[in-house]
Amino acid sequence: MRFARYASVALLLAAGAVWQSVAWAADDGIPVNRDRYANRSLLPDFTATPCPDNPRGLTQIRGNLYRHTTGGGLAVHSGLVLVTNEGALVIDPAMTCTATWLRDEIRRRFNVEVSYVVNTHAHADHISGSQVFQKDGALVVANQRALEPIVGEKIPTAIPDRVFDRDMTITLGGETVQLHRVASSHSDSMSMVLFPGYKALQCTDVCENRSMPYNDFLDFYYDGWIETLDWVAQQDVDVIDVGHYTPATKADELALRDYMVDLHQQVLDLVRAGQSWDQLYRSVRISDEVKKWTAYETMHTLNVLGMYRWVSNHRRGEW
Ligand SMILES: [Zn+2]
Repeated sequence: MRFARYASVALLLAAGAVWQSVAWAADDGIPVNRDRYANRSLLPDFTATPCPDNPRGLTQIRGNLYRHTTGGGLAVHSGLVLVTNEGALVIDPAMTCTATWLRDEIRRRFNVEVSYVVNTHAHADHISGSQVFQKDGALVVANQRALEPIVGEKIPTAIPDRVFDRDMTITLGGETVQLHRVASSHSDSMSMVLFPGYKALQCTDVCENRSMPYNDFLDFYYDGWIETLDWVAQQDVDVIDVGHYTPATKADELALRDYMVDLHQQVLDLVRAGQSWDQLYRSVRISDEVKKWTAYETMHTLNVLGMYRWVSNHRRGEW
């Protein structure tokens, strides 16, 4: 009798231990029925051509947090990687031709599989390669607003397994990863990804590291961009991966906010003064500080053009 009671307690403890280890990996995302999209049409994958000479890397930020890179110089794309004993979480694989390397590198160095891939937004240059990890069993996660452009633009990447509206939490190997939608900013599908245990943030393409925002602000929402930078300023983080170049700090994002607000105000004032585009782009004055930023020469006139379009689309004038 007594033995049986002890045995059943031991059984319960064992069952509890199994349950607990299974419960470590969890998320509160909304499941997507991927079967709905089984026959969707896809564009050719421009990142799939074998690229043995393309630079790639996986370097430690701190503790179990790493940063992967693919490409070199101005073409570098990056994302944070969390490695736990229950599997790894990878943000934005970026290229199909280096995704298998990243998978194999994580296996070789840490002896774990990739359990989650987070896609920060529905732009192919960041989310290509996710399908490689999904085929191996990883769950792909994105904001729910990413689903439409992935399907509609025929992007040859994974359909997400999980989506969310405002917030989502992933627990993996006892560590916590928080996904958050602030506002439409750089695309309307942006996710901010926080690693509270590491004071680290993934803020792809909305954040910069003394580097110019890309081109004519492709897929751009000015007001939500500023709102997002204000949100970043409130976070308890000291390392921000911007999806490119090198990691940044909150001071870099304040500098970016100053540049954006100043550019917006100048363009608005010039449009209100009746300047045509041909006059306006010559009239904008950019600070000596910003003139030192990465890619200033190639991007500054394009940035003015993108802001001119935004301002023109969002004013009524006197009539
Ligand atoms: Zn982008």
